[in-house]
Amino acid sequence: MSGHGWVVPNVDGVRARCGGPGLCPECAREAAQAGANTAPRVTVVDVLLKIAERTLKPGDPDIIFMHWLKANGGRLQEATRELGIEVAEGPDFLRRLRAAVVPRLTGRPAPEVKSHAERWQEVLDRARSKEVGL
Ligand SMILES: [Zn+2]
Repeated sequence: MSGHGWVVPNVDGVRARCGGPGLCPECAREAAQAGANTAPRVTVVDVLLKIAERTLKPGDPDIIFMHWLKANGGRLQEATRELGIEVAEGPDFLRRLRAAVVPRLTGRPAPEVKSHAERWQEVLDRARSKEVGL
C-alpha cells in the first residue's frame, strides 16, 4: 500500500480503515497534494452528517458530534486535545472518539450505539404500530 487509498487508489484497491480525507490527517495531506483544482469531495463525515440530520432530532448528540468531526477533520488529535482529552488512534477509533468527545460537547454521556439488528427491529415495530404495510 503506497498511500491510504482514499485519494489516490492503491494498485490492490485496498483502503486504510482511517475514514478518509475528512477524518484522517494523512489522507487530508494526500488530498492537498492531489491539487486544489479537484472538485470538492464528499467525505465519509459529510455522508454520516447527512444521515444523522435526516434520521435524528435536531440537537441530537450525534448531530453535534458529526458537526464537530466535520469542522475538525484533518486535525482531530489537536481538536481532541483542545477539549482536554486524548484518544489514541487504532482499532475502533471513531467509537472511542465519540464516547470521549460527546460528553465534552454536550455535558452528557454519549448515547449507546444500537446494533443494526436493534435498529431494524425498531423500524419494524414502528411500521407495525402504525399499521404500515411493509
Ligand atoms: Zn487515511
